[in-house]
Amino acid sequence: MARKLVYRFGFGKAEGRAEWKELLGGKGANLAEMANMGIPVPPGFTITTEVSVDYLRLSTVPEGLFETVRESLQWLERGTGKQFGGRENPLLVSVRSGARSSMPGMMDTVLNLGLNDQTVRALAEQSQSERFAFDAYRRLLGMFGDVVLGVDRALFDAPLHEARRRVAKERGLALPGDVETLTRLIPDPVLGAADLRQVVEEYKRIIREQSGQEFPADPQTQLESAVASVFESWNNPRAKLYRSMHDIPDEWGTAVNVQAMVFGNLGDSSATGVAFTRDPSTGERRFFGEWLPNAQGEDVVAGIRTPRPLGTAGAASGTSLEEMMPESYKELFAIQAKLEHHFRDMQDLEFTIEAGKLYLLQTRNGKRSARASVRIAVNMVEEGLLHPDEAILRVDPERLEELLFPAIDPKSKNQALAKGISASPGAVSGHAVFSADDAAACAARNEHAILVRIETSPEDLHGMKAAKGILTARGGATSHAAVVARGMGRPCVAGCAALHVDYAAGVMTIHGADGSVVATIRQGDLITIDGSSGHVYQGVVDTVDVELGPEMEVLLKWTDRVRRMRVRTNADTPAQAEQALSFGAEGIGLCRTEHMFFNEERIAAVREMILARDIPARELALAKLLPFQTQDFTELFRVMKERPVNIRLLDPPLHEFLPREKAMIAELAATMEVSVGQVERKIAELFEFNPMLGHRGVRLGITYPEIPAMQVQAILEAACTVQKEGHDVHPEIMIPLAFSASELRAMRGIVDRVAGEVFERRGVEVKFKFGTMIELPRAALLADQLANEAEFFSFGTNDLTQTTLGVSRDDAGSFLPVYVERQILPADPFVSLDIEGVGELMRIAAEKARVARSEISLGVCGEHGGDPKSIEFCESIGLNYVSCSPFRVPIARVAAAQAALRRTKKYWH
Ligand code: ADP
Ligand code: MG
Ligand code: MG
Repeated sequence: MARKLVYRFGFGKAEGRAEWKELLGGKGANLAEMANMGIPVPPGFTITTEVSVDYLRLSTVPEGLFETVRESLQWLERGTGKQFGGRENPLLVSVRSGARSSMPGMMDTVLNLGLNDQTVRALAEQSQSERFAFDAYRRLLGMFGDVVLGVDRALFDAPLHEARRRVAKERGLALPGDVETLTRLIPDPVLGAADLRQVVEEYKRIIREQSGQEFPADPQTQLESAVASVFESWNNPRAKLYRSMHDIPDEWGTAVNVQAMVFGNLGDSSATGVAFTRDPSTGERRFFGEWLPNAQGEDVVAGIRTPRPLGTAGAASGTSLEEMMPESYKELFAIQAKLEHHFRDMQDLEFTIEAGKLYLLQTRNGKRSARASVRIAVNMVEEGLLHPDEAILRVDPERLEELLFPAIDPKSKNQALAKGISASPGAVSGHAVFSADDAAACAARNEHAILVRIETSPEDLHGMKAAKGILTARGGATSHAAVVARGMGRPCVAGCAALHVDYAAGVMTIHGADGSVVATIRQGDLITIDGSSGHVYQGVVDTVDVELGPEMEVLLKWTDRVRRMRVRTNADTPAQAEQALSFGAEGIGLCRTEHMFFNEERIAAVREMILARDIPARELALAKLLPFQTQDFTELFRVMKERPVNIRLLDPPLHEFLPREKAMIAELAATMEVSVGQVERKIAELFEFNPMLGHRGVRLGITYPEIPAMQVQAILEAACTVQKEGHDVHPEIMIPLAFSASELRAMRGIVDRVAGEVFERRGVEVKFKFGTMIELPRAALLADQLANEAEFFSFGTNDLTQTTLGVSRDDAGSFLPVYVERQILPADPFVSLDIEGVGELMRIAAEKARVARSEISLGVCGEHGGDPKSIEFCESIGLNYVSCSPFRVPIARVAAAQAALRRTKKYWH
């Protein structure tokens, strides 16, 4: 049978269903699902994503597509009793994009197709409203001109503003200088039929002049070219950027939905709006949204008019839908509850009321802040909608860092200048900029930008990404700015009405209740926004770290039940260790001892050790360091108690500890009682062309065995002390950068000798483990040999990545971004593990190691230990633990749990 190109929905049933998002796109699949559920949706049909994939590849639609479309249109005509292009009862349709995963506002949609100079008359006749008919027509011309004919959308503003000015004059109103105020003074519904007729003529002229062709009067032509353009909108720059930001493959393509129009602009008993079944910013369980009477399509989200609240709670009288159209509100409320229950997730809805009759136009799983995602998932378990395992799979671990976004310090004396809508949580400071390009430029200088716009549109996406925070003067919690900011995890204050932005002058002013200017902020001035409270401040305001919150604590407890891998932390100090413990770390996976050397008192002794002429001199210097190191480890063991503490012996090349400046060198020479020349000579001696592959890691221990001897003594002395205090400590001594079993044997010799001495002297024995990092391909390939000497391996994936790819992390800036951009590499291998290459070495090493020593403990301690995709890989090769920086511990706990759940294959993603 031929491939089915089109799926119909409407009149109480549908050919598609919610599960077929891959084929029908999210919008089409859910429209079908709603139709099947008996929810009122305008009827229509979906052209599959497969068609778009073909079209994008071959630049032509599959054979028979438009015949099938015509047949489906006839079906639509029969069902609605209207005719497409008809002179009596014209059928109008929308052509809507809709990809597999929602990309809000990134692709194109054209409304009111089927209108021309004849059908507009018929529509006026039939609706008894010429105003409505011409409003629909001018919208079609504007959208068609922009989307299909490539006319600059901004050009269509002028005739509308001209009409506003005429109306203002007729009414004897003073003409405001800026179009902002003008639009507020004369909003769209005030424009009459004659005004809109004139706008229509102007629009036709703009199209003719700009595109060199007439607006096509033939409805079939309109439809076919709109379908093609919507396919093409998959590849517009903002859609591409959005995909790259959200890891959506370029191959998917978009479905196209052709749907009978319903009209929210048919007068005052008509309306359009958007709603969320829960608060997408906080996750609170409350139905809310925004609507506008006598409006169509994007009017609400575009912020052209100030939208009104749905519910009466907190609303000014005469504004809420609940009050103005109680019947429709009641029906909508019931439908949202039904949809949320059906989809078992928070829904983001679009609805339209045409002459008192409610229609749903879209439902999808709503974008939400990270905090909301956790709260909603946990609440839905409590409500019996989800299993805890599903709740775990619902949160995106990548985004959990946002839970720790700072909050305004409650002790701060700084007074907020204005308050808008808290659209996406978190407090940030930065330089005010008024265009997306300026935000990008600011970010390129490594400065924090707050993007301030009257409202945002999909064109601003790159600036929203570059900015640290977003502030808008118009638009509500469902505006473009709010939805996109939440999706990207940028703090956002929207609809700050006291804000007045003058793009041309590069100035924003904040107005008091009486309209007077209370603050003037110029481009580049520092401001702070708090997306959690909606407050806007001048200058930088102190912030404090926030906590994970009660719902996250609950979720983390659940993750611990399903997780197989342990989660440790990379911590060098007791303070870091404590922080990590509060986030649930179960041990230390990497303590870098060199970080203990940098403090002022110690660095002198370190330098003495390095510059020592002979072994006795070196031992003398090491003896000065011993008490410091012992103290450090004692404190660390006291914090970690019975949990494993993995301590890596000295790793970096020694020259890193030496002074560079003349004055410092002279000072060092003086304390060491040698000449400046001698110090300089020693420094020159230590110079290396390629220090990362030079005299470092275990090589230091081989050449200067006194160094590991001192460190091991410090570790074990400390362990004895804390063990005597009553804690069953578990130290692990880790050798860096080994590539052979013989290196490990040499080190083991030192460790055993020192251990014997310490235990003898202290009269107590501490169980400890001896092991190595795997950072070199040779070590991975000979893992069985190394495992004979080592009780544990820890994959040092930062160095292993450098040495496997032959890429120096510190020098990769000039080419690695290009590699990622051109998809030569799927991601930065220093952020997300190169599973194909580095991962393969790890797999080999893990397998060989287990053959040689079945009970060997395997972990990872590179940056990748906190990266969810890499964690999933670690699960797949059966590592015992991952170790990451303290703030990523919660992320790793969730990611490890998700990896374990996915491996059982009981759950879809
Ligand atoms: P997006 O994916 O950018 O949200 P949509 O396809 O959802 O684009 O459409 C844009 C706007 O037009 C939405 O507000 C939607 O509700 C409205 N719309 C789309 N089709 C129709 C229709 N057949 N009748 C009335 N409004 C429609
Ligand atoms: Mg939509
Ligand atoms: Mg290393």
